[in-house]
Amino acid sequence: MEAEIGIIGGTGMYDPGALEGATEAEIETEYGSPSGPVVLGTLRGRRVAFLPRHGRGHTIAPHEINYRANIAAMRSLGVSRIIAPSAVGSLREELGPGRFVVPDQFVDMTRTRRGTFSGGGSVSHVSMADPFCPEARAAALSAAGGAGLGVTDGGTYICIEGPRFSTRAESRLFRAAGADIIGMTLVPECQLAREARICYVTVASVTDYDAWKGEAVTAREVRSTLERNAAGAREIVARTVEGMPAERRCSCASSMDDADI
Ligand SMILES: [Zn+2]
Repeated sequence: MEAEIGIIGGTGMYDPGALEGATEAEIETEYGSPSGPVVLGTLRGRRVAFLPRHGRGHTIAPHEINYRANIAAMRSLGVSRIIAPSAVGSLREELGPGRFVVPDQFVDMTRTRRGTFSGGGSVSHVSMADPFCPEARAAALSAAGGAGLGVTDGGTYICIEGPRFSTRAESRLFRAAGADIIGMTLVPECQLAREARICYVTVASVTDYDAWKGEAVTAREVRSTLERNAAGAREIVARTVEGMPAERRCSCASSMDDADI
């Protein structure tokens, strides 16, 4: 095992910060190349593997990310848990910019992505009723609380295709449908991790109010809020790594045991 915990950095997080003994690995998978070289090292006493989802220069659009290669690369390193920071818009007044959310559900509105390792003769129907690892969620929530950062436990992340932002009508529709935050990258990353028997949690950093409230979001607004939130996001990731239980008592490792019909 080269790494125990994977970190897939989102918009605004392109390097892992200070890792002890950091080395880089170029990994090729049967699904192609991941978003870039993986940085391996030690963070707060744990072996981690860091990969920036959009590439180091933010050159890979949400719909172009090779999610399967990213998860397969993590799996090949022995990763059993993934912490996935991400930037999101808010669909709720009370989830203002600067707030962190650890969602417990998602709705998939993507259209063009390869969302499964299944196929080519093997058919698996994995359960996604509870898409996130309860142990990893608990570690992330306690990390955010311990760092004194405003965090919301639970919520529904609606994943859109992007890379454009929502129309006002879409934003209102998603609100009416009960979604709380909106982003472009959770799916299929989350479900591929489940298929790979890897625990997965996302720590969403709210950057804006999407398009339902007043001024519609711009990429510039997203960037400036992320810059303000960057230190907090890094601290949550580091503390989540530190607080992740060494032994898995969740059912993520057996996710595929009942997936074949
Ligand atoms: Zn788990």
